[in-house]
Amino acid sequence: MKVAFLGPPGAGKGTQAQAVSRERKVPHISTGDILREAVQTGTPTGLKARAYVTAGKLVPDEIVVDIVAERLARPDCKQGFLLDGFPRTLGQAKALDAILAKSSMRLDAMLYYAVSDDVVVDRISGRRLCKSCGANYHVKYIAPRKSGVCDRCGGGLYQRADDKPETVKERLRVYREQTAELIDYYRANGLLKEISADNSVEAVRADTNRVLDAVAVR
Ligand code: ADP
Ligand code: ADP
Repeated sequence: MKVAFLGPPGAGKGTQAQAVSRERKVPHISTGDILREAVQTGTPTGLKARAYVTAGKLVPDEIVVDIVAERLARPDCKQGFLLDGFPRTLGQAKALDAILAKSSMRLDAMLYYAVSDDVVVDRISGRRLCKSCGANYHVKYIAPRKSGVCDRCGGGLYQRADDKPETVKERLRVYREQTAELIDYYRANGLLKEISADNSVEAVRADTNRVLDAVAVR
């Protein structure tokens, strides 16, 4: 299962990818997670990426493409992977095709999480993450049993710095300007599978599984 998840920030890609990864034992590769960790630990990549991530701009293609090429070369990706938040530009999409072609692989499907603007803003503003295990919550829709505390590991929950309203606006603008054209790219090559992401987590999960089951039997 070699698939990628596309959609605006806050569409629910990460939530679905985490669940699929657990259930189907396929590595979840989120370029956002990798970049945030690099920024936090201050690696050379993190130092280059910091200003872009903080401002809600895209990190330059060459940096992100190198990260993904290195990650996909690891043995755990031989049987499949879930790319979350990559590719995000036409240049990244073409680079991904080239990376996979080198190992005689190709993408099986691009899952596109279609969601309305007001839903996205509501989801991002309530997003909370666990400091210790990365589990994803929402203050209204996926609330932890105890406010501010992770159900799974007891870690503290925090709000991402770039989930503040000013940066969210910029990220949505960047999505429309640089990423949305990928919908046409993947529709044209026959890989696009659209999922109605406005629905509940359970409904979106059922839709996601239906698409992945069809991919798996091909
Ligand atoms: P969201 O889940 O809200 O869509 P991400 O965690 O995927 O956000 O990304 C957070 C930030 O990391 C982006 O705003 C951008 O700065 C950077 N980033 C993540 N993936 C990419 C990518 N494929 N290309 C360029 N920048 C990226
Ligand atoms: P993305 O990875 O696309 O940026 P996330 O998976 O992080 O999005 O989801 C954004 C926020 O919305 C999170 O707080 C998450 O818990 C919540 N969320 C995800 N899917 C749904 C859904 N179907 N209904 C309600 N809330 C959701």
